Amino acid sequence: MRRLLVLVLVLYLVWRVLNIVGRRLEQRSREITEEGLAGRGSRRRAATGGGEQERLLPCARCGTLVPASRALTSGDASYCSPECRDGAGKGDGSGAS
Ligand SMILES: [Zn+2]
Repeated sequence: MRRLLVLVLVLYLVWRVLNIVGRRLEQRSREITEEGLAGRGSRRRAATGGGEQERLLPCARCGTLVPASRALTSGDASYCSPECRDGAGKGDGSGAS
């Protein structure tokens, strides 16, 4: 009978420990998920919202970096302004202005 009592006692202690550990783990996981969600949220904003818009393309003529949304593209090249795009085919533009 003693063995049975010891077994029950051990099981009871294990159960209590598991309960306490479980609560702690739950709290931790809550904190982690909250942090993770916040982090993901800001990362997602940066990735989806500004990622493509803020990608900078160098002007093929003057080298100015232009946001991809504002850049003028012609073929493979991108330009900062219509002047650069139109002037690109005419020459280097050394004496243009
Ligand atoms: Zn340009």
